[in-house]
Amino acid sequence: MSVRSDVDCNKGREIGCQTYCCRLLIRLEPEERIPQKNGLPSPSFVEKNESGYCIHLDRENNLCDIWHTRPKVCRQYSCNTDPLLQIALREPVTSMVALVKREQTLFIPKEKFIQIPCCGDDEL
Ligand code: SF4
Repeated sequence: MSVRSDVDCNKGREIGCQTYCCRLLIRLEPEERIPQKNGLPSPSFVEKNESGYCIHLDRENNLCDIWHTRPKVCRQYSCNTDPLLQIALREPVTSMVALVKREQTLFIPKEKFIQIPCCGDDEL
C-alpha cells in the first residue's frame, strides 16, 4: 500500500506554512538508511543544514529535492493535525524550539484552525 500526505505542500507554502515541517526530526526506516562506506552505523535521521532545515529542502524555492522518494515519515505526516502548523501560519518560525515553546502559551481552538488544502481539491 502506498502512503502519502494528503496535504498540498505547494498551497501550504502559498498560505505561509514556512515549510516548518521540514525542520522537524525526520526519522528514517531501517530500509531507508544508507550504508556508510567507512563502516560506521547508518544515520537513522535525515541531516539538517546550518539553518535547521532538512538537507533535501531546496531553500531557493522551498521544494523538496527528493519528493518522489522522500522518507516514509514525510509521506505519512499531515500538518493539518499538528498544532504547530497553526502557529507557523500566524507567526514567524525562528526555530523549532521557539515554536514548541510558543505552543505552550498560545492556544488556538480547533474551530479556528487554518487548513492547508488537500491535493486534488481543485478538481472537486
Ligand atoms: S525529505 Fe523532503 S519532505 Fe521530507 S523533510 Fe526533507 S525536504 Fe521535507
